[in-house]
Amino acid sequence: MAEATGFEPVRACAQPIFEIGALVHSATPPHLLYYNGSMRLKHLFPILGYFFLLGLGVGHRFASPQEIVAKESWELFSTIPPGEATQGSVLGAVSVLQAGECVLPVEGKMILAHVNKTCALPANYVPAGLTKISSIPTTGTEYLRGDTLNYLNQLYGAAKTSGFNLSVVSAYRSYATQAATFNYWVGQSGYAAALMGSARPGHSEHQLGTVVDLGLIGNSDFANFTASPAAGWIAKNASRFGFTVSYQPGKESITGYISEPWHIRYVGTELATKLYQQKLTLEEYLTRE
Ligand SMILES: [Zn+2]
Repeated sequence: MAEATGFEPVRACAQPIFEIGALVHSATPPHLLYYNGSMRLKHLFPILGYFFLLGLGVGHRFASPQEIVAKESWELFSTIPPGEATQGSVLGAVSVLQAGECVLPVEGKMILAHVNKTCALPANYVPAGLTKISSIPTTGTEYLRGDTLNYLNQLYGAAKTSGFNLSVVSAYRSYATQAATFNYWVGQSGYAAALMGSARPGHSEHQLGTVVDLGLIGNSDFANFTASPAAGWIAKNASRFGFTVSYQPGKESITGYISEPWHIRYVGTELATKLYQQKLTLEEYLTRE
């Protein structure tokens, strides 16, 4: 359903591009399209203008509408009529949801906020207490909620004792950062594939500030992490420090995501242990409650 509705704006988004192209073409006197040998100089101007636009790179858009879709896929998330939505207007909106989706209320510490493919955080939600991660190697400047960072430090230390040198590849991501991240993956692999491995803005647990993507030091490639014994160690031990692996193997149809053994979310040791023992994802737990 999400894919079906999601694809509609893509076509709608691309449509004005073609209309612009059509306008340029229609500015060309019809008889020039069937040159009969009596062309006047004034008739050349529309053609010269067209090639001038091509030189500016505008014509590239006419020739490659697919690339526009990726770059302007903000409109995929918008309820604003296609063509009126812009990056700014989408970012400024509290709700940019598709039909049937909801915006989560901001209540308490949001530890168990049910962020998934259907329910989104408000665009302007920024968790309190974001703290720069300095105690663990990161691949960039990363932030996490201070209260969660304490537990991540403990997990990091225990992993190191067990011989696993972990790093943080990604932690808190703002709504805007997630939009850019998702758009990147749409550009790389298309909308449908991006949906399986990345969240639309507002729908990412990373916006909570209690989630990290782990990697191996010096190697932030997720495939390498998945193939390493570290992934197995995390699956088995993360709950001891209050973390749950959100997207587990065999649960793809429930979570909507491919298995991501690197993506862990803090939910507290009590619940994390319960989830681990009962082989449940947080998604299943929150749906049951
Ligand atoms: Zn993640």
